[in-house]
Amino acid sequence: MNRFPLTRAAALERLERFVPRAGSAYGARRNLVDPDGDHGNVSRLSAALRRRLIGEDEVVRAVLATHRFDKCEKFLAEVFWRTYWKGWLEQRPGVWTGYLADVEAFQPGTAVAEAIAGRTGIDAFDHWARELAETGYLHNWARMQVASIWTFTLGLPWQLGAQWFFERLIDADPASNTLSWRWVAGLHTPGKTYLADADRIAAMTGGRFRPDGLATMPRIPDGSAHPPRTPLRAASAPDPALPTLVLVTPEDCSLETVLPTLDVRAVAVADDLARNAWDRTAMQDAAARAAAHWQCPTGPGDIASIAAQHGCTQVVTGFAPVGPVAAALEDLRGQLSAQGIVLAEHQREWDRLCWPHCGKGFFNLKSEIPHLLEALRLA
Ligand SMILES: Cc1cc2nc3c(=O)[nH]c(=O)nc-3n(C[C@H](O)[C@H](O)[C@H](O)COP(=O)(O)OP(=O)(O)OC[C@H]3O[C@@H](n4cnc5c(N)ncnc54)[C@H](O)[C@@H]3O)c2cc1C
Repeated sequence: MNRFPLTRAAALERLERFVPRAGSAYGARRNLVDPDGDHGNVSRLSAALRRRLIGEDEVVRAVLATHRFDKCEKFLAEVFWRTYWKGWLEQRPGVWTGYLADVEAFQPGTAVAEAIAGRTGIDAFDHWARELAETGYLHNWARMQVASIWTFTLGLPWQLGAQWFFERLIDADPASNTLSWRWVAGLHTPGKTYLADADRIAAMTGGRFRPDGLATMPRIPDGSAHPPRTPLRAASAPDPALPTLVLVTPEDCSLETVLPTLDVRAVAVADDLARNAWDRTAMQDAAARAAAHWQCPTGPGDIASIAAQHGCTQVVTGFAPVGPVAAALEDLRGQLSAQGIVLAEHQREWDRLCWPHCGKGFFNLKSEIPHLLEALRLA
């Protein structure tokens, strides 16, 4: 079985197998890192959730069908961490553009290259750097140690560490990745850093690693204060009356499960938005399902030409949160509009209801989880 599912069928199968372990077993064992990379204590659903091959609501519904809320609260909270980071970045897009500008400005030197190659001499770090290169995945607790050692022990810029992860992770996500690096570095909750500790690493890896010489005093990197909160971007909802082309991007790969009734004439794949082969696999799977659902043709190519070929005056895609896809869709919106075609984005109910609670600390969102589950008809 695929270790990190990238089709909807594989993700649903992984979910079904994982559900029995999403209760108290997850709460007790989720931070134990198997150095041999099995990671059976966690779901490994992130690559599928990140591309929405499967929705957060589907995961939560399946887990709550088996476990009482108080037994699976820990797992549900982790699912909501993804939502929290997304909703927070949506309200501070300047943190993303600031990070991109910083990455451009830095010259990565030898120390960065040696760290990425897993040649620092810090056993746990080097092991995880190689695991990331080989598999594209790291356990959450390993990510925290790697980001902490990079920032505080090696003294490297967090932005270049975040860029390394963003290029290599199978679940690479602008919000979860950038903001988790900032959280470790002490820039998210001002003054609160995450410091890796040799004894804790030994405890969580069954004694396999106990690195020497880790930093004992975090030096918080310079970072400007959070930009002011801006209103959430409004989605331009699809018009059911218009002949429609459905556009699959890596941001939403199960549109047929959430779109309202539409007059869909064709399905197109935004091939140029794939950052890697993992994206391409997920998008091809999504396009095949969408074409079967709407009984219409699909294929790659220039979006405006495909729309014209099928008489479509509307292109509908999933809402793209802050990141490269949103930036590319803004360009596409201009090109389409020049040809009289509207670009509409479908925003999922999950995001619409949850994001307004994500502008402050995670606790604000966490305390809303029971109400949100009710509003989403999941509890
Ligand atoms: C420095 C750093 C960088 C990270 N970069 C990314 C990234 O680019 N993309 C990404 O998806 N996650 C990122 N994470 C969060 C987290 O590590 C992964 O989501 C998680 O390890 C995925 O494995 P899983 O599916 O087995 O998680 P599980 O433990 O099974 O959790 C279930 C789901 O909850 C969500 N989740 C769990 N933990 C977190 C978390 N801490 N933050 C946000 N969502 C979470 C994920 O969607 C995950 O699939 C990062 C964390 C750190 C510390």
